[in-house]
Amino acid sequence: MKRIAVVTSGGDAPGINAAIRAVVRTGVDRGWKVLGVRRGYAGLMSDDFVQLGSRDVSGIIERGGTILGSTRCPAFKAEEAQVKAIRFLRQREIDALVVIGGDGSQAGAFALAEKGLPVVGIASTIDNDLSGTEMSIGVDTALNVALEALDRIKVTASSHERAFLVEVMGRNCGYLALISGITGGAECIALPEVETDPESIASELRQAYERGKSHGIVVVAEGAKFNAEGLSSYFKEHRERIGFDLRVIKLGHVQRGGTPGAFDRLLATRFGVAATDSVECEKFGVLVGLVKGEIKATPLADIVGKRKELDLGLFELAAVLAQ
Ligand code: ADP
Repeated sequence: MKRIAVVTSGGDAPGINAAIRAVVRTGVDRGWKVLGVRRGYAGLMSDDFVQLGSRDVSGIIERGGTILGSTRCPAFKAEEAQVKAIRFLRQREIDALVVIGGDGSQAGAFALAEKGLPVVGIASTIDNDLSGTEMSIGVDTALNVALEALDRIKVTASSHERAFLVEVMGRNCGYLALISGITGGAECIALPEVETDPESIASELRQAYERGKSHGIVVVAEGAKFNAEGLSSYFKEHRERIGFDLRVIKLGHVQRGGTPGAFDRLLATRFGVAATDSVECEKFGVLVGLVKGEIKATPLADIVGKRKELDLGLFELAAVLAQ
């Protein structure tokens, strides 16, 4: 009988609970014991475990966030912290650790794997900046939350012929901004990957107005050089010359806490099942992700520290589609 542990680390994402549930129930089905680690890597360093049976994961598939809790834990980057965590896991006779998280968490998983711990990662982050997967858990739900906000803002923007700036999350990656901008019909998109200055945004909005548009929506990634703060203060300062101002809305954590949609529940479930398959056949040091539409385990060594490239062809297309 195997004993496995599951930890959720880094930023929470809608669908994580569905992944925990799948790991627990497929593990139990195989006759294994499954333990959950509370509060991410902080719990791993302080031996904070809880046993999880099938009933402990009842009624969680529809809940956002993570029932196990998560923390940012910079201390875990230190080797002593990782060694301590491995010692606790060995004392508890854990055969494998499943790490649900984004790029930082998978860097932590890789560090543990390098020290000989059997680890399987599951791709989870709303930012979609993790290499080794086309989609991570939470991305689709976060996009739909951003879209609902954009659709509502567009209605009021049209009624009052106003320009709005909507800042979305994504850290240094523009994926959420790009896709929500395209699918929300934004007039203008600003990303960390492409330099965009406030004057060209003002000019694009003016041109859109002259083409007969009654609304002007700018979607900005939080990591863009000019994000909500930068653009709103620029527009305030140059209000008279530019001729109009920007109403600023930061979606922030609203995007992270959503109820997971069907896509994320299914993706997370399939990732969870694949992770226990990986443990069963002792394929360790890998990240379970979506590659060319299939669930695939990629070595952590191939993805940790690699920047995921954004499809800039879509960015060029966005300008055409905003005509
Ligand atoms: P995410 O996993 O969502 O990208 P973070 O980047 O905050 O979130 O990473 C989550 C946690 O992973 C960090 O708080 C830290 O404990 C751990 N971590 C991040 N980078 C490393 C690293 N290079 N080595 C070991 N652990 C790391």
